Amino acid sequence: MKKAIVIGAGPAGLSCAYELSKKGVDVIVFEASNHVGGMSRSFNLWGQIVDLGPHRFFSKQKEVNAFFNALVKDDFTLVNRQTRIFYNGKYFQYPLKFGNVLKNLSFVTIFQILWHYIVRVLFPIKNPKNLEEWISNRFGKKLYTIFFKNYSEKLWGIKCTQIDADWAAQRIKTLSLVQAVFSSIFNNKGNKHKTLVDQFAYPNNGTGTLYERAAESIKKENGKIVFNKPVKRVLLNKSNKKVRGVELVDGSVFEADYVISTMPLTNLVNGFDQVPGKVKNAIDSLYFRNTILVYFEVDTKDLFTDNWLYIHAPEVKLGRVTNFRNWCPTLTKDKNTSILALEFWCFEKDKIWSANDNDLIKMAKEELSVINLIPKKDKIINSRVIRVPKCYPVYETGYMNKLDIVKDYLKDIEGLMPIGRYGAFKYNNQDHSILMGLLAANKITNNNQIDLWKVNTDTEYQEDGKIKDVLIY
Ligand SMILES: Cc1cc2nc3c(=O)[nH]c(=O)nc-3n(C[C@H](O)[C@H](O)[C@H](O)COP(=O)(O)OP(=O)(O)OC[C@H]3O[C@@H](n4cnc5c(N)ncnc54)[C@H](O)[C@@H]3O)c2cc1C
Repeated sequence: MKKAIVIGAGPAGLSCAYELSKKGVDVIVFEASNHVGGMSRSFNLWGQIVDLGPHRFFSKQKEVNAFFNALVKDDFTLVNRQTRIFYNGKYFQYPLKFGNVLKNLSFVTIFQILWHYIVRVLFPIKNPKNLEEWISNRFGKKLYTIFFKNYSEKLWGIKCTQIDADWAAQRIKTLSLVQAVFSSIFNNKGNKHKTLVDQFAYPNNGTGTLYERAAESIKKENGKIVFNKPVKRVLLNKSNKKVRGVELVDGSVFEADYVISTMPLTNLVNGFDQVPGKVKNAIDSLYFRNTILVYFEVDTKDLFTDNWLYIHAPEVKLGRVTNFRNWCPTLTKDKNTSILALEFWCFEKDKIWSANDNDLIKMAKEELSVINLIPKKDKIINSRVIRVPKCYPVYETGYMNKLDIVKDYLKDIEGLMPIGRYGAFKYNNQDHSILMGLLAANKITNNNQIDLWKVNTDTEYQEDGKIKDVLIY
């Protein structure tokens, strides 16, 4: 029987182990923490289920939706999405709506938006390489400056001219300003089916339900998941061309025919005994951005109606605020409070990452009062800080050349499959990581030649799928 080791019990690792265990492969998952779900876990906070910031599930891929449907079944709520951008003291609907933009901006600004757009239509930037060029080409520089620049720079911690166009191509619908205006005026007229932008299926007990149920299935099929077992390194044979197994941080060694790794790619490569200098230089130039989540419980039900808000305002570090009150009623049950999650992004070397919890809570409260998000009459009754390391692989311009060097090196190691968000250095959503997991399993059981690195590199836009096409319940 084939033997496989999976590193990490997040969406990528568990979807792979789920599929392998069903096909009779002897599989063991080593998870560093004491829970499943990775960044997509749900947990109980002050008597209510919450996630690590907003976790909206959507995909057009039939394998991924089959995975969701098989595990969640009908235990989900269709949530109407409402998200807005807070900028210049005003709220703008996001995705942008033409009428709402007109209402909130001055005549001069609207004229500038149109003018800059016409300039770009007449003189487009050839082969846009960075985020600024890519977005300006589609929407003009003024609209880019208002709605994309500040937020992207807060998120990534580098200038938009240093952010690779790949990121925009993967995440922003490839439409022009004219098409955007047209679709925001005529959106859904004559089209009775909601798209994945308007609504999303959310498991009634949090996004992590999917992974808790995958774990149950794996155990039922005789697969193993062991917690609090961080993997130190992946072991290779003498020629460094075939995987041998893994060594855990506690020193124990486990052998296998396949190792599916979802641990950070940088840690994986740096764990090998010998790495060619070129590969070492390449891996050392790839880096991640971290998130600090500050949770507040506020003694009211009525703060704002959005699932989450994007905070573009440059006067605060705060980037996004989730309001779990507005996800589905099964989360809040009969509670009369609202739990918010505030996101702050930083690098590991930044002072804020090592600041103590009390200082972070104080800063978060001050920032909330700068943007007046909680009225004075409402009180914060509970606070909690959670740090999520390495959650954003930074797509700095030219990163792909470095990643290609690493990929070429790893492709030659038989039996090793690096997948997942930090595992493959890909800005994955849950669905991309699940797809990578399912395809990795398929590679083992069907011995096919799928290139896992290609997942989430196409520019197919997932959100325009119709909700009726993806859910069978
Ligand atoms: C704030 C935030 C908001 C997000 N919003 C959304 C959203 O709305 N929709 C969406 O679809 N996605 C969203 N995502 C992305 C989603 O969380 C990830 O795409 C998904 O969790 C990635 O799955 P993964 O398995 O690749 O990695 P992870 O979820 O990171 O799982 C990796 C697992 O590996 C374990 N691990 C790491 N190193 C080791 C080691 N050495 N040994 C053993 N175990 C190890 C970790 O503990 C973890 O459990 C969001 C992410 C963040 C941070």
